[in-house]
Amino acid sequence: PTTPHYIGRFAPSPTGPLHLGSLATALASYLDAKVHQGQWLLRIEDIDQDRCNAASTEHIVHTLRRHGLNWQGDVWVQSQRHAVYQTALDILQGDNLTYPCACTRKEIDEANANRTHGENRIYPGTCRQGMPEGREMRAVRFRCPNQPINWHDHRLGHFSDRLSETSGDFILKRGDGFWAYHLVVVVDDLASKVTHIVRGEDLTDTTARQIAVWRALQGTPPAYWHLPVILAEDGQKLSKQTGAQAVPEHEPVLNLNAVWQHFGLDKIKATSATEWLDLAIPVWANYRAAQAARKL
Ligand code: GLU
Repeated sequence: PTTPHYIGRFAPSPTGPLHLGSLATALASYLDAKVHQGQWLLRIEDIDQDRCNAASTEHIVHTLRRHGLNWQGDVWVQSQRHAVYQTALDILQGDNLTYPCACTRKEIDEANANRTHGENRIYPGTCRQGMPEGREMRAVRFRCPNQPINWHDHRLGHFSDRLSETSGDFILKRGDGFWAYHLVVVVDDLASKVTHIVRGEDLTDTTARQIAVWRALQGTPPAYWHLPVILAEDGQKLSKQTGAQAVPEHEPVLNLNAVWQHFGLDKIKATSATEWLDLAIPVWANYRAAQAARKL
């Protein structure tokens, strides 16, 4: 049998140095691409310029290299791709899949106030048929499909998400020109022909919105695998927000083994990161198969 074509990616936001949680995501997506003799791309998600900085990008790139995690081709950089995002938005607009919205956050909160469950703020669709007279545009929204989005996660199994119950028509671009994550992530994955997304499970509930955008842009959505989020010793999610430390500068093999144990896998003895990665590929193939079995 021929190996299906595989293009994976790691897409960090450079809001701080690379920490062990992100190294785990990088490693998992890298190994998954290697198991499939596929390609692995690096994309710097620096679209939110207020939260991102060049020093973090440098640290990420440097740390990936030190761990032998080498990507194919040029690094994709979101802050250089505004024109592409605008083209995609124009296409959606041309298909009547967007509309301008005047609602303030306060108005949306008020509309949500009498909901009895759910934490997400749901857009009630106020401007779907047009903005009220004399109001200023605050955002461009995506007109969500009414039918549920059915999708499959490699580890978590089947999902059937009704966007009307989880987000409502979400923002693609803010009035101040700021691009929304759900648009740019899809435009970039589509443009770089990504077939498989391996990322942290904190992003699981963004997937249905992204699949809706994939379909609207006539793309075939990728396969998804959401990994358990790596926890710090106190049980908190390891992330920049909780002040996770940068990946230690010591021997890369120690770091690789540290995240490996997070996946419940046995330490690998190796004298270099490259050797470690070569030994890890067949182990990952078995781990992947075992994770798929969990959904039964
Ligand atoms: N940039 C996102 C993050 O760092 C990841 C996006 C993705 O993998 O789809 O959390």
